[in-house]
Amino acid sequence: MDMQGTSKAEQVFRAGDRAPQSGVYRVLHERHRESHLATLFKGELFPPCAHCAKNVRFVLLRPARLIREDLDFKGREGEE
Ligand SMILES: [Zn+2]
Repeated sequence: MDMQGTSKAEQVFRAGDRAPQSGVYRVLHERHRESHLATLFKGELFPPCAHCAKNVRFVLLRPARLIREDLDFKGREGEE
């Protein structure tokens, strides 16, 4: 799979969409900046970029469940 481009299997999200899953997203800007990675939580809104505003795109690169949502860690926050 081409890491730079977007394949048909990848879903592309825009500013204002809600993150369907927690995980690492590739952030694609319009010319002013190379693509980079960012972590978003499930249900968070994808924010507009300060430079390319709503032309910024997000592609889910690696879904990652939050540790507190994981079956084996649920409710164990703060326990020793
Ligand atoms: Zn941008």
